Amino acid sequence: MKHITEEQLEELRGALGAERDAVEEELATYGRVQSDSGDWQGSAEGGGIEPDPNDAADQIEELVVNVPLVEELEKRHKDIVGALEKMEEGTYGVCEAGEEEIPFDRLEANPAARTCVSHA
Ligand SMILES: [Zn+2]
Repeated sequence: MKHITEEQLEELRGALGAERDAVEEELATYGRVQSDSGDWQGSAEGGGIEPDPNDAADQIEELVVNVPLVEELEKRHKDIVGALEKMEEGTYGVCEAGEEEIPFDRLEANPAARTCVSHA
């Protein structure tokens, strides 16, 4: 990744770390980690408390909203963690589809980008 300087890489690493923390915080708010598979799962707030019949409908509604959100957050989290791993391996900033170098401008806009613009 000669097209990215050490300085730029540090900047992107910082951005990825901050975004990972923010996504993990959101996942903790909207979901919970399922210990057997490690997957994040959507959960209605107040889970574990004896359900009030009047709250049950609200909780189901909340689950419907939360599950796609959690899936979106989980996908984002995977991309961020994957990008950080690639930084460790020295393969960061390379398009996963065509192996072109991803321009810094694109990485700056989305540090977790896995492909160049033409393969996005
Ligand atoms: Zn590409």
